Amino acid sequence: MLKIKLHWQILIALILSIFFGVVFTDYVKYVSWMGDVFLRALRMIIVPLIFSSIVSGVTGLGSAENLGRMSLKTMLYYMMTSIFAIVTGLVLVNLIKPGVGADLGLSAVVEGLDVGRDSFGQTLLKIIPTNIIESLANTDLPAIIFFAIFFGFFTTRVAPVYRDPIVNFFNSVFEIMMKITMFVIKFTPLGIFGIVSALVAEHADNLLNIFGRMGIYMLTVIGALFIHAFITLPLLVRVLGRSNPVKHARGMSVPLLTAFSTSSSSATLPLTMEALEFNSGVSNKTTSFVLPLGATINMDGTALYQCIAVLFIAQAYGIELSILQQLIVMVTALLASIGAAGIPMAGLVIITVILSAVGLPLEGVGLILAVDRILDMFRTTVNVWSDSCGAVIIARSEGEELKV
Ligand code: ASP
Repeated sequence: MLKIKLHWQILIALILSIFFGVVFTDYVKYVSWMGDVFLRALRMIIVPLIFSSIVSGVTGLGSAENLGRMSLKTMLYYMMTSIFAIVTGLVLVNLIKPGVGADLGLSAVVEGLDVGRDSFGQTLLKIIPTNIIESLANTDLPAIIFFAIFFGFFTTRVAPVYRDPIVNFFNSVFEIMMKITMFVIKFTPLGIFGIVSALVAEHADNLLNIFGRMGIYMLTVIGALFIHAFITLPLLVRVLGRSNPVKHARGMSVPLLTAFSTSSSSATLPLTMEALEFNSGVSNKTTSFVLPLGATINMDGTALYQCIAVLFIAQAYGIELSILQQLIVMVTALLASIGAAGIPMAGLVIITVILSAVGLPLEGVGLILAVDRILDMFRTTVNVWSDSCGAVIIARSEGEELKV
C-alpha cells in the first residue's frame, strides 16, 4: 500500500475537512465525534506525561546548579521571544492602523467578561498547589509543574535506596506515556478531520462576511505572526541554536498542524515532545523541562495577538494611546500571556485584563469576538513553534548533539 507521510495525511485531512464542513454542513455531526475522541485521548495523556517527564527530567539534571541554570535559560528565552513578538505586533498595528474606521455598530455583546480575571499576584500564588491531587485531577498545569519540579529535585537529595526506585518508576511511566502518545499520533488525521470540519460548519454561513469586515485586522495579526514565526524565531535558531531552522520545522510539522487544528498548546504538548525528541534529537532531559513550561507560560503568538487586538479596539473607539500606555499594554500582555492557559480562546478572556489596565471599554472585546477562533489557530501554532525553537536553542547551549 502507498505509504503517505503523516504530515501529508494531516494536510489532506485539513483540506478535506474544509470542503466537508462547507458542503455537508448538516452531516458534520457524523464525523465530529472523531475530533472529540482524539482530543480526549490527548487530554488523557497530558497529566501523567507531564508529571513523569518533569520528574524524570529534573532527576536527570542532578544538581541544584544544573536545575538553576536550565530554569534561568528557559525563562530568559521565553521573556526575550515574547518581547520580540510584542514589538512586532505593536509596530504593525501602528503602521497599518486596522481599527481606524472599524464599524462599532457591528460589535457583538459579550457576557461574563469578569471570568478568570485574577490579579497577577493571585495568578502567581496559585502556582503553589494546596492539594496536589486536586491539581492533578483538574489538569492545573502550572501547579503540577511546580510540584513535579520540587518532587524531582528532592528525589535527588535522598539516599539511593529511596531514590532509585522512584527514578526508575518515573522513567518507566514516562517511556510508557511516550509509547501511548505515538499510538495516538497515528490517528491525528482522523481527529483533525473531525475537529476542523465541525469548526468550518459552525462558521460556514458567515465566513465570507467576517473576512470582508475584519479582513485588515486579521491580515495585521497573521502578518505579524508570520514575521515572528518565519523571520525572528528561525534567526534565533540559526544564530543562538546553531541549527537548521528549516530542518527543525520539517520535523515539527505534525505538532504544528495539530496546534493549528486544535488551538490548544496543552493538547498538542505530547506530540511536541515526541517530535522534538525523535526528529530534532533534543534530549529528554531538556524537552521534559522546557516544553511543559513553554506550553503553559511561553505564548509569543498570544502576547502579539493581544497587543494588536487591544490597539485595534482603541483605534476603533477613536482613543489615542500614548507611548506610556502602549508600554503598559506591552508589559500587561507579557504577563497576561504567561497567565493564559494553553486552551482554545484563553487569550480572548485575558484581553479584558489589558483593556482595564489602560482604561479601555471592556465591551471592545465584542468587536474582535467573531474572528478570535480563527486567529487562535494561527497564534497557537506560533506558541508551539516558539516552545520548540526554545528547546533546540537550550539543548544546544547545554552542548547536546542535535539532528537539526
Ligand atoms: N489557544 C492558545 C494556546 O493554547 C491560547 C490563546 O488563546 O491564545 O496556546
